Amino acid sequence: MASSPIHSPQAEPERRALPDYMPARMINEFVYCPRLFYYEQVEGLFAHSADTIEGEAQHKRVDKEGKDLPPAEELEEEEIRTRSLMLASDRHRVIAKMDLLEVADGAVTPVDYKHGRPRETDQGIELWSTDRIQLAVQGLILRDNGYRSDEGMVFYQKTRQRVRVEFTVKLMTETLETISRAWETAASEQIPAPLVDSPKCTRCSLVGICLPEETHRLRGERPEAAPQLTLFDETRNDRLKKPPGRETRLLVTPRTDLRPLYLNSQGLRVGKSGAVLRIKEKDTVRQDVRIGELCQVNLMGNIQMSTQAVQELCSSEVPICYFSRGGWFYGITTGLNTKNVFLRRSQFRLAEQEWYCLRLARRLTAGKIRNQRTMLLRNHVEPDKRVLRELKEMAGRAERADSLEELLGIEGNAARLYFGSFAGMIKMEPEDGATDAFSFDFQRRNRRPPRDAVNALLSLGYSLLTKDFTIACYAVGFDPLMGFYHQPRQGRPALALDLMEPFRPLVADSAALSAMNTKMVTPKDFIRAGRAVALRAEGRKAFFRAYELRMDTLVTHPLFDYRVSYRRLLEIQARLLARHIEGEVEEYPVFVTR
Ligand code: SF4
Repeated sequence: MASSPIHSPQAEPERRALPDYMPARMINEFVYCPRLFYYEQVEGLFAHSADTIEGEAQHKRVDKEGKDLPPAEELEEEEIRTRSLMLASDRHRVIAKMDLLEVADGAVTPVDYKHGRPRETDQGIELWSTDRIQLAVQGLILRDNGYRSDEGMVFYQKTRQRVRVEFTVKLMTETLETISRAWETAASEQIPAPLVDSPKCTRCSLVGICLPEETHRLRGERPEAAPQLTLFDETRNDRLKKPPGRETRLLVTPRTDLRPLYLNSQGLRVGKSGAVLRIKEKDTVRQDVRIGELCQVNLMGNIQMSTQAVQELCSSEVPICYFSRGGWFYGITTGLNTKNVFLRRSQFRLAEQEWYCLRLARRLTAGKIRNQRTMLLRNHVEPDKRVLRELKEMAGRAERADSLEELLGIEGNAARLYFGSFAGMIKMEPEDGATDAFSFDFQRRNRRPPRDAVNALLSLGYSLLTKDFTIACYAVGFDPLMGFYHQPRQGRPALALDLMEPFRPLVADSAALSAMNTKMVTPKDFIRAGRAVALRAEGRKAFFRAYELRMDTLVTHPLFDYRVSYRRLLEIQARLLARHIEGEVEEYPVFVTR
């Protein structure tokens, strides 16, 4: 494990099983970037980019299995071409699926298909270093199987050119050294550092997982004197203290093009037809939605989904989230969560450490209180100076709390102050559209069940936010049930609840306020059942719109200075927590808005 203080040097070394063989494709990745190799080979992570999708489609066309290669001693006179042959070297523990093998004059030449173009130099065209080593691995495997292999070729599909490389002693020695370094890296407990300022990162399919710029910024450019990453400088009116250095390049798109689907009308049935979800009410088709355009599907209440639709969503990595009709989030279906087992092991180890739970909980709670204060400062019709001052003090006390119990007390007091002023942020007059039963006249926070309209909106907002952080936890490889501040309890996504603390005011409260203040939701949209107040179907639909508008809002990250949507930010924060838990960055940078 890394040398970060969160991992004790006395901790037992991790045990991890290495595979029998290393694919030649992985040696190519290792040459491109050892960190990319580690993600794919060790942690089992993969993400498609435009390049990989194009490459895969083109490979399918050449991936037709051919006949076996005859034994080496029978090759003399034959001229053979065979495709898609898998061979391994037991000596070097490498394996390759060879796109095409051409046999002539007793020698076997591997031909690899690449979807891109060759490297252009002053001397002409040549192989990329990644491709050269990958071919040399194939040559090595052929030689270990008794064949003569003197050269290899890559066919670059974009320019439809073949480029040769001779398997010289120098190249084969370099290849053996590379294989050996790749095995060492795979056995290591430490992920290699991200590349620095590399143009490779802009083309890398894992850039959104790796966060190279952010990781460097949090690791290497922090002031030496600061023992912890302090987001607020209390002496300068809560202005953020950023690590010095240049601005962070935003290498991921600020927003995702994929959208969530909310199905809210009771009795809907969802099936699959080709690549679309077909949504029916009785026998009438209400909507067709392309699965490739979705990032999640939310089923509110009694909505049926066919097994075929569930299978397709699982294999497309689109989570399905289940809510009660009233908006209680109670389940999620995802594909097999088989990746990143080492992260979960670190998560479970640290969750057992009381000192670590307190250290993280302090920061999360202080962040939430600061964000609550900013909400009042920005949105209250006449912010109460005493409340602002006390919230500021409480954020400071939260950072120094001696126990989780003390922290809970501080958090509760801050919540009372904040919600005590919450009505001042509702700028819709109580009589606007009010019925005898409902108004937006907020008194205090209540829940389970919410007993007034504002609390019904807040509860639904927190439920949606829990769902979104649960999805982010799964995407990163965490177990969402094992938290640090929120203790594990049957069926409670404790880690999602931890991560969402600073975002409650910024996303859920903000969505509720804008739904009320812009009259997207009015008091007529509520219904009472016993003591509980809930939204009608139309009101829920309007609130989903308000919530998604908030999630789509671009916000400036205070540490990295780039603008991303809240939806993107949630995943970035979950990934930064992973960086911290795996020991790559010393502190989890809690998101606190300016
Ligand atoms: S983003 Fe850059 S550093 Fe990270 S894995 Fe990709 S190439 Fe390597």
